[in-house]
Amino acid sequence: MTSFFRAEVDAMTGYIPGEQPKSDSKIIKLNSNENPYPPSPKVKDVLQDFDWEWLRRYPDSSATNFRNAVSEVLNVPADWIIVGNGSDEVLNLVIRACTDADRKVVYPMPTYVLYRTLVEMQPAQTVEIDYPADYKLPIEELVQVDGAVTFIATPNSPSGHVVPVEDLRELATRLSGVLVIDEAYCDFASSDALSVVKEFDNVISIRTLSKGYSLAGIRLGFGVANPKLLQGLYKIKDSYNIDAIACAIGAAVMRDQDYKNSCAEKVRISRNKLSVDLEKLGFKVWDSQTNFLLVQPTKGNAEHLYFKLKEQGILIRYFKQEGLEDKLRIAVGTDEENTILVKALSELIQ
Ligand SMILES: *Cc1c(COP(=O)(O)O)cnc(C)c1O
Repeated sequence: MTSFFRAEVDAMTGYIPGEQPKSDSKIIKLNSNENPYPPSPKVKDVLQDFDWEWLRRYPDSSATNFRNAVSEVLNVPADWIIVGNGSDEVLNLVIRACTDADRKVVYPMPTYVLYRTLVEMQPAQTVEIDYPADYKLPIEELVQVDGAVTFIATPNSPSGHVVPVEDLRELATRLSGVLVIDEAYCDFASSDALSVVKEFDNVISIRTLSKGYSLAGIRLGFGVANPKLLQGLYKIKDSYNIDAIACAIGAAVMRDQDYKNSCAEKVRISRNKLSVDLEKLGFKVWDSQTNFLLVQPTKGNAEHLYFKLKEQGILIRYFKQEGLEDKLRIAVGTDEENTILVKALSELIQ
């Protein structure tokens, strides 16, 4: 029988998201890099005051209210911003707009697994280049491929390292295609790449409210780029990709930077403590500017530890993937959750 699907779809595996336990379970969930703190209390005000009669109408197709809030906070004009149903949608818009069978998409590995999935759906070629052990950006190899799209996540997942802005600037100068800087974790980092976006018309920074703003549940992300680059993305975007409630919530939390920054600071402090605690247990811990840690157990097998923690109701992330099979990615929880995790790990490796 012939397949219902395109050859690319038949060939692909599909993205496997981190497990989402039922909301009433007492699981300690450190597998999807969610923020351990609740979103800004402004969310409650917005929901209480929301005039539900407005839901009768289609929402604003370019989420103007939210874009204006982003514009004020990042100090970029509102027409430099495109809003997506999660930043995943913006990543997909770039791939759909810029690739075809003889255009390459390139990125250093290991990185966010979704890039591969999004490219696999298209008749496009993926070129994956390994990061060296010290995670220095392989600039020459990336430039040599000169893809239609080059993805750089910074801070990167699962390594947690930040790519220096000079390296991004050099790439932007030397690439003829689009440079996507995925800044999903920039709210936890000490620097960002907005200056590169302002300088080059082939660069887009992609941000999300899922991590820093504790709003993975409403699916809101955005891209910042020269309007020349956004033009093609606007053409193919679903007209009503952002619902009215998400738009109103997004605008309010964006304007509450103090709350977001105070949570990020708590996460950074807990991250540093967790890192020291895991090192004391003999784990190798990579430097991280995110809300998670990449660690390597020196005693005990990573996959075994992952399963054993799961049995105890603690979810972390294990990637059965070259270079990561001996490592674990652990999101920073509350100090209470981290203490339970460290105790469980310490017992398991005895
Ligand atoms: C979490 C994450 C995203 C996805 O964010 P959403 O806005 O929830 O779609 C994008 N890129 C990286 C590197 C991430 O870790």
